[in-house]
Amino acid sequence: NLSERLKKVAFYVEKNTVLADIGSDHAYLPCYLVHTGKITKAIAGEVVKGPFESAKNQVAQEGLSNIIDVRLGNGLEVIKEIDAVQTITIAGMGGPLISSILETGKNKLASVDCLILQPNIHAKAIREWAMKENWNIVNEAILEEQDKIYEILVLKRGKMNLTNKEALLGPILMKDKSDAFMKKWSNEVSEWQRILDQLEKTTLTEEVRQKKEELMDKISLVKESITS
Ligand code: SAM
Repeated sequence: NLSERLKKVAFYVEKNTVLADIGSDHAYLPCYLVHTGKITKAIAGEVVKGPFESAKNQVAQEGLSNIIDVRLGNGLEVIKEIDAVQTITIAGMGGPLISSILETGKNKLASVDCLILQPNIHAKAIREWAMKENWNIVNEAILEEQDKIYEILVLKRGKMNLTNKEALLGPILMKDKSDAFMKKWSNEVSEWQRILDQLEKTTLTEEVRQKKEELMDKISLVKESITS
């Protein structure tokens, strides 16, 4: 049974799109999308041998080997021009890793019009990359599953300008202010406050002073959004 997190990623995949799922592990996401009738062709990419074998086995077990092509390789290098991939999903990694996979594989994005990304942490890195590369956030979701909070970003081509606050919190998520959003950011604020309290007790070097300033800025930025 697919996690709520991956079901939400699947929800944003458009019908009949050609999909590449990068860092596919067991290939659960592309298998689910084929079974639910949303897609008829997919590539599952994996850079590590173990998960690559798991993906191959899973796809074979579900009788989908002629529909889902499991490929071993780093990031977007598994995508070929002839595949004419339209949608890329990358889920379950940190934001900086997802951004670096996209940045390194930029030349593979010619045919791609939708990116669905699910960073476990630091979604900000993705929003900053998107802004620089002319991708626009068309949807955002946040959900809690098994005591973890996950964000999902849906990008299409287009210009976007985000303030520092929007890049951190998500332009759509900060308007919605869902329960998961409020919980995530009040937890972050408590954690930053805890670090700040620790720093109060240490000798005030230039480095400590800078760190404190950074934390105080972030705290006031986020507090504005979760208290009003
Ligand atoms: N996408 C699945 C999910 O969301 O449940 C699996 C997430 S798993 C935590 C991350 C997977 O990404 C691992 O199997 C890892 O080997 C793979 N991975 C990490 N860096 C990668 C890269 N540069 N290219 C392809 N796969 C990568």
